[in-house]
Amino acid sequence: MNTLDYSHFYIGGDWIAPAGRQTLDVINPATGQRVGSVPRAGGADIDNAVSAARKAFDDPDGWSRWTPTRRAETLERFATELENRAGEMPQRVSMQNGMPITVAEGFEGSFPPVMIRYYADLMRELPAEERRPGLLGGTTLVVREPIGVVGAITPWNVPQGISSLKVAPALAAGCTVVLKPAEETVLDAMLLAEAAHAAGLPAGVLNVVPGGREVGAHLVAHPGIDKVSFTGSTAAGRSIAETCGRLLRPVTLELGGKSAAIILDDADLTSRLDSLYGVTLLNNGQVCWLNSRILAPRSRYDEIVDVVSDLARSQVVGDPLDRNTTVGPLVSERQRARVEDYIAKGKSAGARLTAGGGRPNLDAGWFVEPTVFADVDSTSVIAQEEIFGPVLTVIPYTDEADAVAIANNTEYGLGGTVWTEDAKRGERIARQVRSGTIGINAYANDPTAPFGGVKSSGLGRELGPEGLAAFLELKSVYLDPTLS
Ligand code: NAD
Repeated sequence: MNTLDYSHFYIGGDWIAPAGRQTLDVINPATGQRVGSVPRAGGADIDNAVSAARKAFDDPDGWSRWTPTRRAETLERFATELENRAGEMPQRVSMQNGMPITVAEGFEGSFPPVMIRYYADLMRELPAEERRPGLLGGTTLVVREPIGVVGAITPWNVPQGISSLKVAPALAAGCTVVLKPAEETVLDAMLLAEAAHAAGLPAGVLNVVPGGREVGAHLVAHPGIDKVSFTGSTAAGRSIAETCGRLLRPVTLELGGKSAAIILDDADLTSRLDSLYGVTLLNNGQVCWLNSRILAPRSRYDEIVDVVSDLARSQVVGDPLDRNTTVGPLVSERQRARVEDYIAKGKSAGARLTAGGGRPNLDAGWFVEPTVFADVDSTSVIAQEEIFGPVLTVIPYTDEADAVAIANNTEYGLGGTVWTEDAKRGERIARQVRSGTIGINAYANDPTAPFGGVKSSGLGRELGPEGLAAFLELKSVYLDPTLS
């Protein structure tokens, strides 16, 4: 099989040789085979990328000074170039992180150009400035300006979908970006750079430098960076927040989760199994907002345990590039070991295993069976910590107040769902759950609505106009009323 091997970074609108000699090998988690490589950035490469982004941002005739309409024309071309690669992009992602190809076609293929077009249009429509009559007689000119050079750091689980939540609004706002993708998913980031280059993005507006967490930390603390946008684990987010706190550097953090699906006693789950899969086992259980805790009323507990266990057992586990596959491998051997450790903890804590728990009968790859635990104590490790794999817990509750209390008894607050046939009841419960987002009978991040977490799930919001505001700074110019 041909491998995809890159020898250069995308910096300053050109393919630039790395300062060092280290490389990052990309392994297909379904086979354990090497599928490609990229150079591994060191501090000097990050410095080059930040300089290029800084130069592009500070250019008095450059990207940050263009009108939103002029930027939108270039961004439209960028979206088209991504659409031209909407077949290859999902393939690259699936063979790096194990995302089922039918899922990748949406998240990684069609979603990013939608985001670019959405933000290009939103910025075009947003009044760039307003003259605000004051209370004290004068007038203030309130101007929206791009915040500056953005350091964007992304995880491996939904690499292009998540990059687009940062790159699209940042570029539309007039910022320039240094993107550091996760080590596991770098070949898709190189394809993104190729699309940007083909679209004629001006030099330095988008720079792509794959590397590990040390260069991520270097990027966060770099004096040339004005804003950090991070998606990843809560542990890394805390460390980044500490640095940004010390530097008083604006930061958006999208972190981990342990969301709950609250099944109400009137819910019709059997007609909604696709939605239930979508909020529990999507992307092999590796999505931050998934509902890994299923809260079931005691009156229907056994029946709901059966429905969830049957759902887990009915999944087609295998090659993510096969269109029939619904659950692929975990991203790495290390991640599988972590998930298996949690399964062992669930067993030893006395939870009842009702589906899965082992490895499927496949020759290679980092697979685990979709796994369900019943009779789970809501304070136990498997009900409290983010497992990031296809492992679900079904927890009984006595009444609505108990369900809400269990849902809220977590350090996280990112997603969640309420399952009911009564719209008003669903909304009432949804309002009581402490999380940044929640769905009723399904869950989908709409580009127009803010997405983000409370508590240990993060700071700030992406998507919607709020996601654009994160890349804009406001300046008030107090006008002299004596001048005409
Ligand atoms: P991770 O935190 O290990 O790595 C994410 C990225 O941050 C990588 O690019 C990594 O190199 C970099 N990084 C790690 N430590 C860093 C540091 N100290 N300074 C700077 N950069 C650093 O996370 P992961 O294992 O790649 O991703 C899984 C995690 O991401 C899960 O916890 C998941 O919930 C979370 N996630 C959150 C969202 C969200 O929107 N809230 C979305 C997807 C994933």
